[in-house]
Amino acid sequence: MDRTIQLSDKPKLIDQFGRHITYLRLSVTDRCDLRCVYCMKARPDFLPKSELLTLEELTVLCDAFIARGVEKIRLTGGEPLVRKDILTLIENLGARIGKPGLKELCLTTNATQLPKYADRLAAAGIRRLNVSLDTLDPDIFSQLTRGGKLRQTLDGIEAATAAGLHVKINAVALNDTNGAHLPDLIAWAHGQGHDISLIEVMPVGEIGVNRASQFLSLLDVRKALETRWTLADLPDDTGGPSRYVRVQETGGRLGFISPLTGNFCAGCNRVRMTCTGELFMCLGQNGSVDLRAAIRDGGPDAVDRALDRAMATKPLQHDFDVSPGATSTVTRDMARTGG
Ligand code: SAM
Ligand code: SF4
Repeated sequence: MDRTIQLSDKPKLIDQFGRHITYLRLSVTDRCDLRCVYCMKARPDFLPKSELLTLEELTVLCDAFIARGVEKIRLTGGEPLVRKDILTLIENLGARIGKPGLKELCLTTNATQLPKYADRLAAAGIRRLNVSLDTLDPDIFSQLTRGGKLRQTLDGIEAATAAGLHVKINAVALNDTNGAHLPDLIAWAHGQGHDISLIEVMPVGEIGVNRASQFLSLLDVRKALETRWTLADLPDDTGGPSRYVRVQETGGRLGFISPLTGNFCAGCNRVRMTCTGELFMCLGQNGSVDLRAAIRDGGPDAVDRALDRAMATKPLQHDFDVSPGATSTVTRDMARTGG
């Protein structure tokens, strides 16, 4: 069966609320070499490898999204760079940039594999990376990642910069660990020439943590930062949920991703596909559409019909709740859907 999906004048992906879906986040693996305490359990139950879509199937599905108007694809995970032969997918998708359809391919990574991959990512057409780094304290880093080595991530960031990749740092703001050190992290990132975004922790996954004690409101973080620095609101829209300010004293850009205290769902432009082909229309809801069945049993038309179903069911917004006693409505781990 010919499973190739050609670019065409197919209808764009527009959801039931009229939002244009132009951004696909693809979790290529749920596995990771770190075990961040807010993301997964110490001993996660990873998916059996036999359930994964092949890299070829992922490419064909990405083409189906591009044919329906997706312009930006972000590879995430788990840790995308620990998936075997991931460069093959990246090079195949990179070859589509600039042709009608795909405008940007980017990656979210913990940076541990970047010394090995940075040059090849740049050669494949990747220009921007989001790198997750929550602290510059080696002990807190080890505690937060359950055994990770800060030096490895810093080396990865240096390798990416040397390869000409633009690095944005992402840091989850946590009341019980890194909260007090965020100004140092921001000052360091800006000193290195990196943008940085802070993220409110989301109650995604049943990973046995107390979200209420982890949660730190970015409204409070911003107030605290304003006692030290002058923050000037920026109109910058990078197509995502970050609201940006310029820190006058450092000259750098700081983003706030506030799913709990500043809902941004009205402008949602994205969907998320797992490495097994489940398509989630919202990070904070459970509904999904099975693209693995569509591609394996039905082919291109079945994939298109599944995408239409997805658009008809994409919810208006998440309903995250981190108040004491609240239970997570989303039981799948962040690494499965891709953060
Ligand atoms: N391993 C890669 C990394 O860490 O960048 C990519 C996958 S990770 C799941 C993607 C992003 O999700 C990271 O920035 C991570 O900090 C964030 N993340 C994970 N769990 C989260 C949670 N419960 N709330 C908010 N952000 C979370
Ligand atoms: Fe791994 Fe990223 Fe999750 Fe940390 S946040 S455990 S690096 S997938």
